[in-house]
Amino acid sequence: MKEKWNEIWYQLRSMRVQLLLVMFLVGLIPVVLFSIIFIRTYNGQTISQKNDEVRSYGNVISNLIANSGYLSGTDSTEVEKEAEEISNAYQGRVMIIDQNLNIVKDTYEMETGNTLISTEVIQCFSKKDAFFSNEIGDYIQLTMPITDQSTDTVLGAVLITYSTKNLHLLEESINYRTILLILAIAICVLLISMLYSYIVSKPLQKVTDSIDNITRGETDVTMELKTYSELLKISESFNQMIGYIHEQDIARKDFVSNVSHELKTPLASMKVLSDSLLSQKGIPEDLYREFLVDITEEIERMTQIINDLLSMVKLDKNSAKMQVESVNVNELLENLLKRLRPIAQKRNIELTLESFRPVVAEIDQVKISIALNNLIENAMKYNYDDGWVKVTLNADHKFFYVKIQDSGVGIPEDVQDKVFERFYRVDKARSRETGGTGLGLALTRSAILLHRGSIKLYSKEKEGTTFTVRIPLNYVGQEQLAAT
Ligand code: ADP
Repeated sequence: MKEKWNEIWYQLRSMRVQLLLVMFLVGLIPVVLFSIIFIRTYNGQTISQKNDEVRSYGNVISNLIANSGYLSGTDSTEVEKEAEEISNAYQGRVMIIDQNLNIVKDTYEMETGNTLISTEVIQCFSKKDAFFSNEIGDYIQLTMPITDQSTDTVLGAVLITYSTKNLHLLEESINYRTILLILAIAICVLLISMLYSYIVSKPLQKVTDSIDNITRGETDVTMELKTYSELLKISESFNQMIGYIHEQDIARKDFVSNVSHELKTPLASMKVLSDSLLSQKGIPEDLYREFLVDITEEIERMTQIINDLLSMVKLDKNSAKMQVESVNVNELLENLLKRLRPIAQKRNIELTLESFRPVVAEIDQVKISIALNNLIENAMKYNYDDGWVKVTLNADHKFFYVKIQDSGVGIPEDVQDKVFERFYRVDKARSRETGGTGLGLALTRSAILLHRGSIKLYSKEKEGTTFTVRIPLNYVGQEQLAAT
């Protein structure tokens, strides 16, 4: 039972059903009200019109009676004729009553000579311009006095009873026709409402279908709703969202294939190395060692790739995990360089730091260290022996700037945009040699973007590269950003 009610409630909450109901009621209620008012007014009007008509005939006959002296015994065929005419014309009865309440004339000839005692008639004698109209079943009884104008006395009364049967029949027929008309209008309104609510709600079904398609995993869905401007907006936003999801989907697939490819290479070389060891017998220990060293190197490489991937996932997750604190950036850079100096010395690369001013900024120390470390490491990795790397730190009232310049191999202009992509390496062989995974700059950029900073690169092949990093001194979190 409860489920049934829930189902009904659910249906009633449907926009289509509500639209249908509202349209139907708005269309029908005025018609019904108008019909009721019309019928009432019309019926009232016909009765009162008929009353007036009979009343005027009544006046004529009462004047005629007064003038002809009919009540004082004078024969008047004119009066009799008039009474018969009225009684025929209105399927009614005319009675003429004299001062003694005797019925002088009854067109039905049933009561002539009898006495009629009725309140209305008695009242007629005390009031010259009295007029009574009583409805008794299908009849209306009019009672009016016969007044002698010259003496201003009431001589008697005229009682006209006429049938309203025809009027009631007419009334019924009008009622019947009106009900038929209302029914016809109701059917028309219902059909129009059904059609319109269907037209209005149909595009919404399209929206649901498109969303269902996406849920099922299709990302190349487009929505075209050209019916209403509001829906046009929805479909535009929807298509934008789909475009974004589609891009993300492609990026995800690319990423997975890149990762697999990157992990396959070390695995393939390990397999080659171990296969060759297994296929030979009596291999000298030195060769074993050499092969195992190679295998270990490949394992290290895989570990490096996996570590980079994990860092990337952590950075990608969200900025809520940001451990923001006030950090002395001068010190941070000095420490980084101290750790990297031994590597630089190996290739006789001059590594210098120039700080223009003391800088304290609200940053996530670990993330910024990873980012800057990557940039400085790259500057050394893609450098010539005996080259130089120059790190400078500066700041204004809003941002601090770290510039990493090197005298290295440079990056060709046409790939300068691509170096920030995951797994992209300009020179695969060289990058592999130096243990590069192609993830470093992607990681760096993510870390900088989490701080709402920016990174730019200027480079000339064989001359060197400059990366400029700009980071706000005060961290603006997601919540603050949303509040502005
Ligand atoms: P990798 O792990 O290969 O170093 P990165 O994402 O750090 O990956 O860098 C991507 C590519 O950009 C590198 O393979 C290299 O070709 C190029 N690159 C990065 N930094 C420099 C630089 N300072 N000088 C020249 N080339 C660079």
